[in-house]
Amino acid sequence: MHAPAKAMDFSFTLLFVLILTIATTAAASPNIYIHMLKPHYGSNGHKHSDLNCLSWRLAVETNNLQNWTQVPQACKDYVGHYMLGKQYRRDVDLVAAEAYKYAKGLNLTGDGNDVWVFDIDETTLSNLPYYARDTVAFGAMPLNETAFNAWVEEASSLAIPGSLKLYKQLIKLGFKIVFLTGVEEIYREARIKNLKAVGYTTWEKLILREAGEGGGVVYKSKKRKELEEEGGYKIRGNMGDQWSDLLGSNAGDRTFKVPDPMYYIG
Ligand SMILES: [Mg+2]
Repeated sequence: MHAPAKAMDFSFTLLFVLILTIATTAAASPNIYIHMLKPHYGSNGHKHSDLNCLSWRLAVETNNLQNWTQVPQACKDYVGHYMLGKQYRRDVDLVAAEAYKYAKGLNLTGDGNDVWVFDIDETTLSNLPYYARDTVAFGAMPLNETAFNAWVEEASSLAIPGSLKLYKQLIKLGFKIVFLTGVEEIYREARIKNLKAVGYTTWEKLILREAGEGGGVVYKSKKRKELEEEGGYKIRGNMGDQWSDLLGSNAGDRTFKVPDPMYYIG
Protein backbone atom coordinates (compact mmCIF):
# COMPACT_ATOMS: atom_id res chain seq x y z
CA MET A 1 0.00 0.00 0.00
CA HIS A 2 2.92 2.28 0.74
CA ALA A 3 4.52 2.20 -2.69
CA PRO A 4 1.45 3.42 -4.71
CA ALA A 5 0.77 6.15 -2.15
CA LYS A 6 4.34 7.41 -2.51
CA ALA A 7 4.05 7.36 -6.29
CA MET A 8 0.83 9.39 -6.04
CA ASP A 9 2.52 11.91 -3.71
CA PHE A 10 5.31 12.28 -6.20
CA SER A 11 2.87 12.86 -9.09
CA PHE A 12 1.03 15.52 -7.10
CA THR A 13 4.32 17.20 -6.24
CA LEU A 14 5.26 17.25 -9.94
CA LEU A 15 1.87 18.65 -10.93
CA PHE A 16 2.10 21.30 -8.20
CA VAL A 17 5.58 22.35 -9.31
CA LEU A 18 4.33 22.51 -12.91
CA ILE A 19 1.33 24.69 -12.00
CA LEU A 20 3.51 26.90 -9.82
CA THR A 21 6.02 27.33 -12.66
CA ILE A 22 3.30 28.24 -15.16
CA ALA A 23 1.64 30.64 -12.71
CA THR A 24 4.91 32.32 -11.82
CA THR A 25 5.94 32.66 -15.46
CA ALA A 26 2.53 33.99 -16.48
CA ALA A 27 2.58 36.51 -13.63
CA ALA A 28 6.07 37.67 -14.53
CA SER A 29 5.33 37.87 -18.26
CA PRO A 30 1.71 38.76 -18.87
CA ASN A 31 2.19 38.22 -22.60
CA ILE A 32 2.64 34.49 -22.20
CA TYR A 33 -0.65 32.69 -22.76
CA ILE A 34 -1.23 29.28 -21.28
CA HIS A 35 -3.85 28.55 -23.92
CA MET A 36 -3.26 30.10 -27.32
CA LEU A 37 -6.49 31.01 -29.06
CA LYS A 38 -6.71 29.24 -32.38
CA PRO A 39 -7.95 32.24 -34.40
CA HIS A 40 -4.53 33.84 -33.88
CA TYR A 41 -3.16 31.19 -36.20
CA GLY A 42 -4.92 32.84 -39.11
CA SER A 43 -2.61 35.83 -38.91
CA ASN A 44 0.53 33.73 -38.85
CA GLY A 45 0.83 33.74 -35.07
CA HIS A 46 0.64 37.51 -34.77
CA LYS A 47 -1.86 38.66 -32.21
CA HIS A 48 -4.47 40.94 -33.71
CA SER A 49 -6.82 43.04 -31.70
CA ASP A 50 -9.92 42.64 -33.84
CA LEU A 51 -11.00 39.09 -34.55
CA ASN A 52 -13.58 40.41 -36.98
CA CYS A 53 -10.79 40.62 -39.55
CA LEU A 54 -10.78 36.86 -39.74
CA SER A 55 -14.54 36.87 -40.29
CA TRP A 56 -14.08 39.61 -42.86
CA ARG A 57 -11.49 37.61 -44.79
CA LEU A 58 -13.65 34.50 -44.70
CA ALA A 59 -16.60 36.50 -46.05
CA VAL A 60 -14.37 37.85 -48.83
CA GLU A 61 -13.09 34.42 -49.81
CA THR A 62 -16.54 32.89 -49.87
CA ASN A 63 -17.95 35.74 -51.99
CA ASN A 64 -20.40 36.71 -49.25
CA LEU A 65 -18.86 40.16 -49.23
CA GLN A 66 -19.08 41.84 -52.64
CA ASN A 67 -18.32 45.18 -54.27
CA TRP A 68 -16.01 46.32 -51.48
CA THR A 69 -13.55 49.00 -52.53
CA GLN A 70 -10.77 48.73 -49.99
CA VAL A 71 -9.58 46.70 -47.02
CA PRO A 72 -11.04 48.11 -43.76
CA GLN A 73 -8.48 50.22 -41.87
CA ALA A 74 -8.85 47.97 -38.82
CA CYS A 75 -7.74 44.97 -40.90
CA LYS A 76 -4.75 46.56 -42.63
CA ASP A 77 -2.16 44.90 -40.37
CA TYR A 78 -4.10 41.67 -40.28
CA VAL A 79 -4.15 41.41 -44.09
CA GLY A 80 -0.47 42.37 -44.23
CA HIS A 81 0.53 39.67 -41.77
CA TYR A 82 -1.59 37.15 -43.61
CA MET A 83 -0.17 37.96 -47.04
CA LEU A 84 3.47 38.11 -45.94
CA GLY A 85 3.28 35.20 -43.55
CA LYS A 86 3.20 31.47 -44.04
CA GLN A 87 -0.58 31.15 -44.00
CA TYR A 88 -1.18 32.74 -47.40
CA ARG A 89 1.44 30.54 -49.01
CA ARG A 90 0.01 27.44 -47.34
CA ASP A 91 -3.49 28.37 -48.49
CA VAL A 92 -2.34 28.71 -52.10
CA ASP A 93 -0.30 25.49 -51.91
CA LEU A 94 -3.33 23.54 -50.77
CA VAL A 95 -5.47 24.83 -53.64
CA ALA A 96 -2.69 24.08 -56.14
CA ALA A 97 -2.21 20.57 -54.76
CA GLU A 98 -5.93 19.91 -55.04
CA ALA A 99 -5.96 21.25 -58.59
CA TYR A 100 -3.11 18.92 -59.53
CA LYS A 101 -4.89 15.93 -57.98
CA TYR A 102 -7.95 16.76 -60.08
CA ALA A 103 -5.95 17.36 -63.27
CA LYS A 104 -4.01 14.12 -62.90
CA GLY A 105 -7.26 12.19 -62.64
CA LEU A 106 -8.64 13.53 -65.93
CA ASN A 107 -8.31 11.46 -69.04
CA LEU A 108 -7.07 13.93 -71.60
CA THR A 109 -8.35 13.29 -75.07
CA GLY A 110 -4.89 13.76 -76.54
CA ASP A 111 -6.15 16.08 -79.27
CA GLY A 112 -4.26 19.02 -77.78
CA ASN A 113 -7.43 20.98 -77.07
CA ASP A 114 -7.51 20.55 -73.30
CA VAL A 115 -6.70 23.89 -71.75
CA TRP A 116 -6.21 25.22 -68.28
CA VAL A 117 -7.09 28.87 -67.79
CA PHE A 118 -5.04 30.89 -65.36
CA ASP A 119 -5.72 34.45 -64.30
CA ILE A 120 -2.47 36.39 -63.84
CA ASP A 121 -2.48 38.95 -60.99
CA GLU A 122 -2.54 37.32 -57.55
CA THR A 123 -3.08 33.96 -59.26
CA THR A 124 0.16 33.25 -61.10
CA LEU A 125 2.03 36.50 -60.49
CA SER A 126 2.15 38.18 -57.11
CA ASN A 127 2.16 41.96 -56.79
CA LEU A 128 3.04 41.85 -53.09
CA PRO A 129 6.06 44.17 -53.43
CA TYR A 130 3.61 46.77 -54.75
CA TYR A 131 0.85 46.03 -52.23
CA ALA A 132 3.29 46.19 -49.31
CA ARG A 133 4.08 49.84 -50.09
CA ASP A 134 2.93 52.40 -47.51
CA THR A 135 0.87 54.11 -50.19
CA VAL A 136 -1.02 50.89 -50.93
CA ALA A 137 -1.08 49.27 -47.45
CA PHE A 138 -2.25 45.85 -48.66
CA GLY A 139 -5.34 47.36 -50.21
CA ALA A 140 -6.30 49.56 -47.24
CA MET A 141 -5.59 52.72 -49.28
CA PRO A 142 -7.81 53.84 -52.18
CA LEU A 143 -6.99 52.23 -55.52
CA ASN A 144 -4.47 54.18 -57.60
CA GLU A 145 -4.72 52.82 -61.12
CA THR A 146 -1.88 54.99 -62.48
CA ALA A 147 0.55 53.74 -59.83
CA PHE A 148 -0.50 50.14 -60.37
CA ASN A 149 -0.07 50.41 -64.13
CA ALA A 150 3.41 51.85 -63.62
CA TRP A 151 4.17 48.83 -61.46
CA VAL A 152 2.92 46.48 -64.22
CA GLU A 153 5.20 48.30 -66.66
CA GLU A 154 8.17 47.52 -64.38
CA ALA A 155 7.58 43.79 -64.93
CA SER A 156 8.83 43.01 -61.43
CA SER A 157 5.98 40.86 -60.15
CA LEU A 158 6.94 37.61 -58.44
CA ALA A 159 5.86 34.08 -59.20
CA ILE A 160 3.44 32.55 -56.71
CA PRO A 161 5.34 29.34 -55.87
CA GLY A 162 2.34 26.98 -55.60
CA SER A 163 0.89 28.23 -58.89
CA LEU A 164 4.19 28.00 -60.74
CA LYS A 165 4.58 24.41 -59.57
CA LEU A 166 1.03 23.59 -60.74
CA TYR A 167 1.67 25.31 -64.09
CA LYS A 168 4.71 23.08 -64.70
CA GLN A 169 2.83 19.96 -63.60
CA LEU A 170 -0.08 20.75 -65.93
CA ILE A 171 2.22 21.16 -68.91
CA LYS A 172 3.78 17.77 -68.14
CA LEU A 173 0.29 16.25 -68.04
CA GLY A 174 -0.38 17.61 -71.54
CA PHE A 175 -2.54 20.66 -70.82
CA LYS A 176 -2.29 23.79 -72.92
CA ILE A 177 -2.05 26.93 -70.83
CA VAL A 178 -4.18 30.02 -71.40
CA PHE A 179 -3.47 33.17 -69.43
CA LEU A 180 -6.53 35.39 -69.24
CA THR A 181 -6.07 38.78 -67.58
CA GLY A 182 -7.98 42.00 -67.12
CA VAL A 183 -4.78 43.99 -67.61
CA GLU A 184 -4.88 46.05 -70.80
CA GLU A 185 -3.33 45.04 -74.11
CA ILE A 186 -0.79 47.91 -74.00
CA TYR A 187 1.04 46.02 -71.25
CA ARG A 188 1.49 42.86 -73.33
CA GLU A 189 5.26 43.18 -73.70
CA ALA A 190 5.76 43.96 -70.02
CA ARG A 191 3.63 41.01 -69.08
CA ILE A 192 5.48 38.62 -71.40
CA LYS A 193 8.79 39.81 -69.99
CA ASN A 194 7.55 39.38 -66.42
CA LEU A 195 5.98 35.94 -66.93
CA LYS A 196 9.08 34.58 -68.63
CA ALA A 197 11.47 36.08 -66.07
CA VAL A 198 9.84 34.20 -63.20
CA GLY A 199 9.40 30.83 -64.90
CA TYR A 200 6.17 30.89 -66.93
CA THR A 201 7.96 30.30 -70.18
CA THR A 202 5.31 28.90 -72.50
CA TRP A 203 1.59 29.20 -73.21
CA GLU A 204 -1.02 28.58 -75.89
CA LYS A 205 -2.65 32.00 -75.53
CA LEU A 206 -2.08 35.15 -73.55
CA ILE A 207 -5.32 37.14 -73.57
CA LEU A 208 -5.28 40.76 -72.42
CA ARG A 209 -8.15 43.23 -72.35
CA GLU A 210 -8.66 45.66 -75.21
CA ALA A 211 -8.86 49.33 -74.19
CA GLY A 212 -12.50 50.25 -73.63
CA GLU A 213 -13.56 46.62 -73.36
CA GLY A 214 -15.53 46.02 -70.15
CA GLY A 215 -13.88 44.08 -67.35
CA GLY A 216 -14.80 41.53 -64.74
CA VAL A 217 -17.11 38.59 -65.16
CA VAL A 218 -18.59 39.79 -68.49
CA TYR A 219 -15.17 40.16 -70.10
CA LYS A 220 -13.80 36.87 -68.79
CA SER A 221 -16.94 34.94 -69.78
CA LYS A 222 -16.79 36.39 -73.30
CA LYS A 223 -13.15 35.40 -73.75
CA ARG A 224 -13.70 31.90 -72.43
CA LYS A 225 -16.72 31.49 -74.69
CA GLU A 226 -14.60 32.48 -77.67
CA LEU A 227 -11.95 29.99 -76.62
CA GLU A 228 -14.41 27.12 -76.55
CA GLU A 229 -16.82 28.05 -79.35
CA GLU A 230 -14.42 29.58 -81.84
CA GLY A 231 -11.09 28.14 -80.76
CA GLY A 232 -12.37 24.60 -80.25
CA TYR A 233 -10.68 24.33 -76.88
CA LYS A 234 -12.11 22.56 -73.87
CA ILE A 235 -11.54 24.36 -70.57
CA ARG A 236 -10.82 21.57 -68.11
CA GLY A 237 -9.70 23.76 -65.24
CA ASN A 238 -9.78 27.44 -64.35
CA MET A 239 -7.91 29.17 -61.55
CA GLY A 240 -8.28 32.73 -60.28
CA ASP A 241 -8.08 34.93 -57.21
CA GLN A 242 -11.38 36.72 -57.95
CA TRP A 243 -14.82 35.17 -58.13
CA SER A 244 -15.27 37.12 -61.36
CA ASP A 245 -12.53 34.89 -62.83
CA LEU A 246 -14.57 31.81 -62.03
CA LEU A 247 -18.23 32.73 -62.44
CA GLY A 248 -20.22 33.30 -65.64
CA SER A 249 -20.32 31.23 -68.80
CA ASN A 250 -17.76 28.66 -69.98
CA ALA A 251 -16.17 28.74 -66.52
CA GLY A 252 -14.47 25.39 -67.03
CA ASP A 253 -15.12 21.85 -65.81
CA ARG A 254 -13.77 22.80 -62.41
CA THR A 255 -12.69 26.08 -60.87
CA PHE A 256 -10.11 26.81 -58.21
CA LYS A 257 -10.05 29.95 -56.08
CA VAL A 258 -6.80 31.16 -54.59
CA PRO A 259 -6.98 33.66 -51.73
CA ASP A 260 -6.89 37.42 -52.19
CA PRO A 261 -8.06 39.66 -49.36
CA MET A 262 -6.41 42.79 -50.88
CA TYR A 263 -8.89 43.83 -53.57
CA TYR A 264 -12.21 43.03 -55.22
CA ILE A 265 -12.97 42.92 -58.94
CA GLY A 266 -16.62 42.34 -59.79
MG1 LIG B 1 -6.29 38.27 -60.44
